[in-house]
Amino acid sequence: MNVVVSKASHKRDDGLVASPSERWKESISLPAYVNGDGRPRVKQEDHSLKHQIKGDNMHQPMILLVKSQTRMEAGTKAFKFLDRYYCNPWDGAETGGRFSGLLTGYDPTDDPTNWEICSLCDGTGFQVDLEGFRERDEDPSFTCSGCGYFDQGKDSWVHGSAGPGLCVKSPTEWKEVDDDIMPLSDERVRSAVTRFAQDWKAHRLRYIEQRSQFYISRNNRYMILSELRTRDAVLEDEFIEESMVFDTDKCSNALPDSFDGYWAVLMDLHL
Ligand SMILES: [Zn+2]
Repeated sequence: MNVVVSKASHKRDDGLVASPSERWKESISLPAYVNGDGRPRVKQEDHSLKHQIKGDNMHQPMILLVKSQTRMEAGTKAFKFLDRYYCNPWDGAETGGRFSGLLTGYDPTDDPTNWEICSLCDGTGFQVDLEGFRERDEDPSFTCSGCGYFDQGKDSWVHGSAGPGLCVKSPTEWKEVDDDIMPLSDERVRSAVTRFAQDWKAHRLRYIEQRSQFYISRNNRYMILSELRTRDAVLEDEFIEESMVFDTDKCSNALPDSFDGYWAVLMDLHL
């Protein structure tokens, strides 16, 4: 199911409050190319698309705060921490991944290292297969569904920012960058971490309350118990599946009083 999350209200189009991961995705405005529809990806300039976050719940971002002297040690500590939780519920994690750049504002789709020749048009920018002919019949401005997109503002097909014949690679092939493991002494990182940690507990409890009411109305005891367990975990400040920013040193979902010595490790968790 695809769910559109409204930026202003954190309300989904089906009336439920957005889950923490949906709220996160909404707050960082993931571009449409990360939706994992299996098509070549293109960076789209139409910013209205960035608000339409589809229901891909296979990937979840999380920032782990670790005390460390170096970037390498910070990464290792973060993975060691997650190791305790593997298979429950994640089956894999990488630093950055499709959320790469969240800490500093680095945009992996602007990096030519992360571009590749579009396979649908062989780099010509002009798709001439069956789909190409069919689409062009309907709209003569059609370029290529791999490296182009329909620009609603221009009411016409155009090419992505990488240019005709070039696509943004799949996030799994993006270059690893230092931006995804950063010291909290960096102002950009402090600001991002603070923003993502804000109101997490209150929002999570509201979400659980609403889910519980939904399951009570359906007399689904298994899920009611599951929501109650999650609520206890939130109240007891445990590390849970939808923790967004977790202090691994103090074992808390709250930000530490002092950021001295801390590093932020951005994780892309695969469910
Ligand atoms: Zn193309």
